[in-house]
Amino acid sequence: MQMNKLVREPLAILGGPKAVARDEPDLFGWPIVTQEDEQAVMEVLRAGKMSGWDVSRKFEAEYAAWQGTKYAIGLPNGTMALEAAMWACGLGRGDELICPSITYWASALQALRLGATVVFADIDASTLCVDPKDIERHISPRTKAIMAVHYCGHPCDMDAILAIARRHKLKVIEDVSHAHGALYKGRLVGTFGDVSAMSMMGGKSFAIGEGGMLCTDSREIYERTIAFCQYERHGQDLTLPDLKALAGLPLGGMKGRLNQTCAAMGRVQLKHYPQRMKAIQDGMNRFWDLLEGTPGLRPHRPAKDSASTMGGWYNPLGHYISEELGGLPVGRFIEAVNAEGGRSGRASNPPLHLHPVLNEADIYGDGKPTRIAFSDRDVRQPAGSLPVSEGLAERCYGIPWFKHDRAESIERYAAAFKKVALQAERLVSRAS
Ligand SMILES: *Cc1c(COP(=O)(O)O)cnc(C)c1O
Repeated sequence: MQMNKLVREPLAILGGPKAVARDEPDLFGWPIVTQEDEQAVMEVLRAGKMSGWDVSRKFEAEYAAWQGTKYAIGLPNGTMALEAAMWACGLGRGDELICPSITYWASALQALRLGATVVFADIDASTLCVDPKDIERHISPRTKAIMAVHYCGHPCDMDAILAIARRHKLKVIEDVSHAHGALYKGRLVGTFGDVSAMSMMGGKSFAIGEGGMLCTDSREIYERTIAFCQYERHGQDLTLPDLKALAGLPLGGMKGRLNQTCAAMGRVQLKHYPQRMKAIQDGMNRFWDLLEGTPGLRPHRPAKDSASTMGGWYNPLGHYISEELGGLPVGRFIEAVNAEGGRSGRASNPPLHLHPVLNEADIYGDGKPTRIAFSDRDVRQPAGSLPVSEGLAERCYGIPWFKHDRAESIERYAAAFKKVALQAERLVSRAS
């Protein structure tokens, strides 16, 4: 096996040969766009139907069928889909949303627009998703909903989260922006909560240009979403008397129409997604299987016998255990892997609870920080309050996001990581 030979050569950062002699960009290109996408988009352009609904409705129906929810609503991006989900769940003035501190900001910040606030929970060190035990610690009489983010494709512990939600009568919103197609115990994420919302922007594992989707089984949440930001559909889609009475103007003061060129691309992407996702899963699992037993490096993925999966492995990363590598800091590890051509990098989002926008900013002129503008208690969380989230950057690194399962190539990328881990001592002695 070439790997055994590659990992024994001198480190590239110390002048040795690179483990990945020649990078293979076509292993990583995403989304995969073919003539089929081009044709579908061109049809919309030629017909002048960018701002219509007909293609988007077809995409919604197909997405709902694939996701396994009764309803799916297309939106311009994941940010708006999540805001609509928050409002549809009843999040309003003074209410609290519990959200993990490690996620993209759009899992949380829109709550402030609704006059609600966010209370951050810590993440679980192994799944990197919200820690159910820490959710319980942060529940107050004002808690309305839990945001479950399937972080970097890893499914949340939904059994525990749903049990807490039932006990405290809370809504559960799933942010599936990283995890389209991931399974939790054999069932698709995005079908567990009251509602799920996901980004479909060009960088995500399900990518249609710019777009978002909201999925639910609840007629009420479906209609509230329409009422909130899709006034042109009020006449057709609103049946609940309270909402019907307000039809004609969007309650959120927003227009949430998906561009049909994106919907058209989405229909094509969806057709191919299961098979393309499988290639990603096979390639990524191959990478981690090759690294099994390597000191300091552990996969971020569910146990093999759990019937849970990582979907399209968005922004894949690995756990880093510096103590097993003579204390080598992760930054230096990443540098050395990149010198090997290994395509690593800093991989996690910074903890949200420490950002000044969530501590100091008075965004809407309330005379006090927006985070606590409508709260009857100071929910702000100082440094040191969520230790796992705050320490994550030092305990993870990015790994290559393979879109194809090519054994020989993947072996070389895996060798880049293994080589640095096995020879970490050489870097430690130089540093000290
Ligand atoms: C990308 C992302 C979003 C926002 O989606 P957009 O389509 O970019 O608006 C929301 N949540 C998470 C976790 C994301 O990564």
